[in-house]
Amino acid sequence: MEDFYTIQGEGFYQGHAAYFIRLGGCDVGCVWCDVKESWDASAHPLVSIQEMTNRAKASGTDIVVITGGEPVMYDLTELTGALKEAGLKTNIETSGAYPITGEWDWVCFSPKKFKAPHSSIYGHANELKVIVYNKSDFSWAEEFAEKVNPECELFLQPEWSKEKEMLPLIIDYVKKNTRWKVSLQIHKYMNIP
Ligand code: SF4
Repeated sequence: MEDFYTIQGEGFYQGHAAYFIRLGGCDVGCVWCDVKESWDASAHPLVSIQEMTNRAKASGTDIVVITGGEPVMYDLTELTGALKEAGLKTNIETSGAYPITGEWDWVCFSPKKFKAPHSSIYGHANELKVIVYNKSDFSWAEEFAEKVNPECELFLQPEWSKEKEMLPLIIDYVKKNTRWKVSLQIHKYMNIP
């Protein structure tokens, strides 16, 4: 759908320069999705893996973030292979809706209520990032924290439109449950993609 060099605004790699490759296509259907234009893959032009890799490499980045849409809808073996061959780190942002393919340096698993994750994601997740839209999402987040590896980084992030309401609850929760950390979408404060 698009690719661009920016700053990772969320989660464990927050603040790092990163080249984003956003793959078109998503069937998860989050009501609050802020990239609904990504859902229809056919609305976006096909770009070759070599072209995407060349653009990422030319940007000067060390890290490539594959996002969507829902990237695990696709077999990502070839794409991640080309990126690794170019000496780039491969990170992914996924809801885990399908079994993950490819070679990853970092897997950010962000489950969504609208489509249950495939159970194979739990062993792959380096980071669990739960978007908090309402109060019930805290107990929902804990269900996933029990399923991922003990060393998995845990983040709670307010849904953007609910930030004023949810952030105070998240701060309070993290102070009481110190395995969790707060994630904010800092790219939105910087007015960058
Ligand atoms: S998984 Fe991501 S792209 Fe798909 S609907 Fe949810 S927020 Fe939007």
